[in-house]
Amino acid sequence: MRTETLYQDFKARMAKQADVSYTIGVLSWDKEVNMPSKGERFRNQQIATLSGIAHEMFTSDAIGELLEQLDAKKDELSFEEARNIELTKRDFHRNKKLNEAFVIRRSQLCSQAYDSWLKAKAANDFSKFQAAFEEIIKIKQEEAALLGYEASPYNALLEDYEPGYTAAMLDELFADVRAKLVDFVREIRQQPQVDDSFLYQRYTKKKQWDFSIYLLKQLGYSFEAGRQDWSPHPFTINFSANDVRITTRVNERDLATLLWSSIHECGHALYEQGLPTDYYGLPVGYYVSLGIHESQSRLWENNVGRSLAFWKGHYSKLQSTFSKQLSHVNVTQFYKGINKIAPSLIRTEADELHYHFHIMTRYELEKAMLEGDLSVKDVESAWNEKYKNYLDLDVPDAKSGILQDIHWAYGSIGYFPTYSLGSFYAAQFFSQAEKEIPTLREEMEQGKTDSVLAWLRANIHQQGRRYTATELCTKITGEPLNFKYFYDYAKAKYSQIYDLK
Ligand SMILES: [Zn+2]
Repeated sequence: MRTETLYQDFKARMAKQADVSYTIGVLSWDKEVNMPSKGERFRNQQIATLSGIAHEMFTSDAIGELLEQLDAKKDELSFEEARNIELTKRDFHRNKKLNEAFVIRRSQLCSQAYDSWLKAKAANDFSKFQAAFEEIIKIKQEEAALLGYEASPYNALLEDYEPGYTAAMLDELFADVRAKLVDFVREIRQQPQVDDSFLYQRYTKKKQWDFSIYLLKQLGYSFEAGRQDWSPHPFTINFSANDVRITTRVNERDLATLLWSSIHECGHALYEQGLPTDYYGLPVGYYVSLGIHESQSRLWENNVGRSLAFWKGHYSKLQSTFSKQLSHVNVTQFYKGINKIAPSLIRTEADELHYHFHIMTRYELEKAMLEGDLSVKDVESAWNEKYKNYLDLDVPDAKSGILQDIHWAYGSIGYFPTYSLGSFYAAQFFSQAEKEIPTLREEMEQGKTDSVLAWLRANIHQQGRRYTATELCTKITGEPLNFKYFYDYAKAKYSQIYDLK
């Protein structure tokens, strides 16, 4: 058969598989946002059935044969076509290495672990989670062995979230965080604290919502290809680049909750709305990695949304929306308040610097458990020790310590580092954008961020998954990920805010 015909067949099958996968997405979105509580049992069943169908479609022999035939005719394919075959083939064989019995057992262990985690958290007692967590570590070790790896089993799992990145690269990155950031943040903590008390007045839900819609429009989020709703845990979900939805949450006693969850999710959504629609269902139409995805949310949240220039452009609107609460706060005071650096026990409430110590702790512990250097029964004390070393905090109990996150209970080992990678990539990308757009800061001061978005669209969004994260970063900035950019950004910004030499 002609290569062209084979490729069209492959494309059509991938699009059908994507139709089913995105339908699962619609059901999941509805479950989080609209579904009445009684609907859960059958909704879970519907999702499980469709997931099975999507899995069968993807792992079918027909796809396997097409991939082999097209791989043999690589030379006749365009760069994008060949890349689609290469990436699909990789995912296909990875999938095949985990047999059905294993996948079912893993999903059962994860549901059990999730239930134990809920109970342990409610009882504030890690020992109630320990046995289930031990099973999770064991099955993840088994998974790594089935997938195969070099150097560390961690590499096999990391590949799901950050393809091409390795534990050795993470070790090097976090060595920098440990050597530079820990001391710098300690220095900040010795300075007089900035005032952020104005954030904790009463801000009505309705006005906060309206302001978030204003911000989303200003940032370039398309409401013709998306919508915002409420949910307790904000997230972004897409059913194509033309339907990318976000959710946000509100706290009437804390203005920061809604502001930064909306901007963060908007960053994720701008990426999805900007992906190339010509590659529906094909790898090139998807995001590069979780780290790159997170770089898009963090860039808008931190590099743009927590900058003085940005608020010079939008503060008068915020101030007029909340005139009673903010009339006595000028833009500089506001900027300092939203950038307050203070250690806290909970990762999701951390400031943009302490955040990485939370991640470093989780990375070091999950890697040690997976490699067999740390047993699950000792992980709580190891956790507490690291919080003392990195954040100078005493962890009072399990629920504000080791039991705070859901990730491990879900079996997500290797996920956490992508949060830090996201911030570090964001700093490196933003520094490059500033070099290439000399008027960027002035434009932001006038409330305009179109040139930032256009830059991201051309350099990152429209590229889809043509390149690996490292290739993309090198193409854009001239070098692979380098912690130096984040450190320079942090040092300049916070030395000014906290009056350091
Ligand atoms: Zn995110």
